[in-house]
Amino acid sequence: MHDHDDLPATRLTHRGRNPKSEEGTVNPAVVRASTMLFPNADSLRKADGTRRSYGRHATDTTLALEDALCAAEQADACLLTPSGLSAITTTLLALLQPGDHLLMTDSAYDPTRLFCEGLLKRMGISTSYYDPLIGAGIAALIQPNTRVVWVESPGSHTFEVQDVPAIAAAAHAAGALVVADSTWATPLGWDVFALGVDVSVHAATKYIVGHSDVLMGAILCKSPLEKTLRATYRQLGVSIGGDDAYLALRGLRTLAARLTTHRDNSRQVADWLREQPQVASVLYPPLPGAPGHDLYLRDFNPAYACGLFGVVFAEGTTAAQVNKLVDATRLFGIGYSWGGYESLIIPSDPGSHRAVTSERWRGKAMVRLHIGLEDPADLIADLAAGLVAMKA
Ligand SMILES: *Cc1c(COP(=O)(O)O)cnc(C)c1O
Repeated sequence: MHDHDDLPATRLTHRGRNPKSEEGTVNPAVVRASTMLFPNADSLRKADGTRRSYGRHATDTTLALEDALCAAEQADACLLTPSGLSAITTTLLALLQPGDHLLMTDSAYDPTRLFCEGLLKRMGISTSYYDPLIGAGIAALIQPNTRVVWVESPGSHTFEVQDVPAIAAAAHAAGALVVADSTWATPLGWDVFALGVDVSVHAATKYIVGHSDVLMGAILCKSPLEKTLRATYRQLGVSIGGDDAYLALRGLRTLAARLTTHRDNSRQVADWLREQPQVASVLYPPLPGAPGHDLYLRDFNPAYACGLFGVVFAEGTTAAQVNKLVDATRLFGIGYSWGGYESLIIPSDPGSHRAVTSERWRGKAMVRLHIGLEDPADLIADLAAGLVAMKA
């Protein structure tokens, strides 16, 4: 195998398929399967406990997607789940025991926080939230029973870039594992395991699927943690179907090409937005001068920046004015999720549900934008009309 030398875009094109075994077709077949039949009782018994025994554990289609995702992110193992949230919850359930403590970034995706306050708390697992900008200072928050430090960089809605290597060094020194929600980065945006992360989870729903038509999650790790993760995954009965795996693999093929367009379009829209008097700041780490830009350049691959960022409006802007802007746009869909080919806008109010960083965001008028693959000149014209409507 010489693929170790291939660059990410090449790996995305060539891994997770085997035309020689597929009668020459470029793409793998869609396998829809629960039952797998065996020629005799002995081979049935031998398959027991392996992944080739039942459709829930693996099919050729899910294995092809796992292979491509592992190649993209330089992981040894990939576990596919029916949503990004289930990738998060499965990982936490696999790594934590009753009595353990979890350190969660205060900028985490909100449903992650709800899981910590819900099921994990009921199981006797405690969570404390830390300032995403804490860096090496995390050491002071690590307790004797801290087993996992969770990072999400950039953070949901507020886009803080975390000092992941410093956090990982402190966590590892105390015997804790580091898990990253890598959804914003995508498998191409950062070299997650080189930064010290032990488990990388993705809402594949976003850029991997890329077309707003499938929910899926992925858990990626190096070999030592595969057994622990797979044991809980198997007990929970988590699995995905062949049609969804095929669509995710199809999305993944164009990830590099889509990201470069999302990046270029976002750069144009963000550059324009920050010149507008109604805008106080644009929270887009790839943008020079934006918060977190220096750490972003150190830890991320700017060739593959995505199209999701926050906008903070000038002091005195009201929530009602933000709603007017949102309602006035023509090309931006109003809805959750992101990572599809289309632009989206939602009002954003991070100050209302943070534990230790509420003050930083309270009362700020904000939107979250997803910049899609439309012509950025049209998106700018649409936002310009929205800013006018905001004043009316
Ligand atoms: C959307 C999202 C998730 C959850 O993904 P679903 O597939 O919607 O369950 C998790 N983390 C982040 C950062 C997300 O944006």
